[in-house]
Amino acid sequence: MKPLERPGLSLWAATANPPPATRPLEGERRADVVIVGAGYTGLSCAVHLADAGRETVVLEARGIGHGGSGRNLGQVNPGVWADPQTVEKHLGEARGPRFNEAFGRSFELVESLVNRFQIACGLTRSGNVYVAHSARAVRVVEERYRQLRACGFDVEFLDRPRTAALIGNDCYHAALLDKRAGNIHPLNYALGLADGAISLGASVHTASPVHRLTRNGDGWRAETGAGSVVAKRAVIATDSYSGELWPGLARTMVPIGVYAAATEPLGENLRTSFLPQRTSTFETALVPTYARMLASGRCVVGTLGYPPLWKEGPLDRWPRRQLKRLFPAAAGARFEFRWGGTIGMSDNHLPRLHEPAPGLTICCGFSGRGVTSATLAGRIVAERIGGLMKDEDCPLPVQPIRPLNFRRSRAVALELAFRAYRALSWLP
Ligand SMILES: Cc1cc2nc3c(=O)[nH]c(=O)nc-3n(C[C@H](O)[C@H](O)[C@H](O)COP(=O)(O)OP(=O)(O)OC[C@H]3O[C@@H](n4cnc5c(N)ncnc54)[C@H](O)[C@@H]3O)c2cc1C
Repeated sequence: MKPLERPGLSLWAATANPPPATRPLEGERRADVVIVGAGYTGLSCAVHLADAGRETVVLEARGIGHGGSGRNLGQVNPGVWADPQTVEKHLGEARGPRFNEAFGRSFELVESLVNRFQIACGLTRSGNVYVAHSARAVRVVEERYRQLRACGFDVEFLDRPRTAALIGNDCYHAALLDKRAGNIHPLNYALGLADGAISLGASVHTASPVHRLTRNGDGWRAETGAGSVVAKRAVIATDSYSGELWPGLARTMVPIGVYAAATEPLGENLRTSFLPQRTSTFETALVPTYARMLASGRCVVGTLGYPPLWKEGPLDRWPRRQLKRLFPAAAGARFEFRWGGTIGMSDNHLPRLHEPAPGLTICCGFSGRGVTSATLAGRIVAERIGGLMKDEDCPLPVQPIRPLNFRRSRAVALELAFRAYRALSWLP
């Protein structure tokens, strides 16, 4: 657990499906592939490796979906934070468009896995809106719309009245409606992927933190306190929850807190007046607010920065202030859940693929866009292990591990800035 992550029970943990029966690893095991981390990347990789007939063991330090995969806001947005042109600038003329196409159509992969394993995770294709919080930000939304349209994606630009009609509030100046996107119960999706992987023959061991990953002949040995797995190939799928397992890995990402809060279920009249079509939102603001209305009638809001220590006290007015601003009719609703998690920001907001030693693959740095991207990354890693995806066909370049300068200071500075911003909630 990250030092600043207050372990508040998340809405998702409180409403989770029963997890698959798993045990800590004991004794020595052999497998084709050992995967460290049971989030979307590791579990999707396990599913796709099992499809290819590989014997796979997943080792998870805590529980399935303990990291971002069990805590996120459940916005299933294809693509990444960076606009398509920025992606092309970073990845070049050949790989950039391939990346945009693969990651831009990644909702379908999530949907196919949900359907295939009959995962009860409430996946909907109810869209997502990127909302302009100011008149100046309308240009940002228009530009993103133009670029996504140029890629052939199903998006729409909404002027202020149409934005207001979709959201149920006139506070935004315009919006980009992304019809490729949707929403999900994130933890149930992770648990369902684990069930699916197990049903295909993969093993998942929880409460099995890997302390050492070392070369073993041509392969790898992953050691936990109580056991070890010897495998031909190894995968590290620990994203922003990476520790010191592989030198320098954690330092390739700036850890940024995310704070989420969920209300009690609202009355019937209220739940149909805000985000009536269950479209989720995220703002253009530097410190954006994210919002969702769930089928259960709970309103979920999120923002950047870790939750405060005294979540229930008067020092934490941020969620209520958001509710008042976005959904004044529900301003008095009680917040029943407040929780936090960590996202791992890469320097250009694109995921990273590393192969730092023979037979070891790492994919991380989803920069807060992982429901679709990490699921796709898991498949990409499996395909590379199977020899099915060559460097030139891969949407992600294989890059060396390059620790970021001043990573810790940047994380602290950002956290202080987010807190200062939230402290403005004290103002009337
Ligand atoms: C609060 C929050 C809100 C977010 N909202 C969204 C959203 O709305 N939409 C979206 O697309 N994305 C969102 N994200 C990002 C998304 O959740 C992540 O990008 C995604 O879950 C990454 O998946 P992963 O499998 O790579 O890593 P994770 O899910 O973080 O899994 C890594 C796992 O590795 C385990 N681990 C670490 N070290 C070891 C070790 N040594 N041995 C064994 N196991 C280990 C951890 O316990 C953890 O379970 C959000 C993230 C957070 C935190």
